[in-house]
Amino acid sequence: MRCPYCGNDDTQVKDSRPTEDSSAIRRRRICPSCGGRFTTFERVQLRELTVIKKSGRKEPFERDKLARSVSTALRKRAIGPERIERLISGIVRQLESSGETEVASGEIGRLVMEALKSLDDVAYVRFASVYRNFREARDFHELLGELKGDEEKSDEDVG
Ligand SMILES: [Zn+2]
Repeated sequence: MRCPYCGNDDTQVKDSRPTEDSSAIRRRRICPSCGGRFTTFERVQLRELTVIKKSGRKEPFERDKLARSVSTALRKRAIGPERIERLISGIVRQLESSGETEVASGEIGRLVMEALKSLDDVAYVRFASVYRNFREARDFHELLGELKGDEEKSDEDVG
């Protein structure tokens, strides 16, 4: 595994253990060249998926790309890497189990929004504002209204 910091091809595994839900193996690695530390996850891939972009263009589904946009939405939020990993795995599992080999990019966006909504409001709004491509402040208020509605609902559930 290549070091993401210096590009050295020969990094060492320091620790290897299953994630909380046992769906992946988490490996802590260290680069002997620059001392950089990073973590990799090994997991099952059930099938190859193709994403259909809005333009109609097709490209192979990349988990890393999904992970990046989710991480961007969750930047500086108090959500641990294991929970983020689980959220992404959950989305990928839904995509893989749909039975389709092609999936619209909008459908992936919808699944991410759903998942973030139950995890973190700020991340949800961040992601939704990019995904829905807000042009007007009104769109934003509508979204906040949706969140507010949910909170009222969850209050009832608790009480
Ligand atoms: Zn390195």
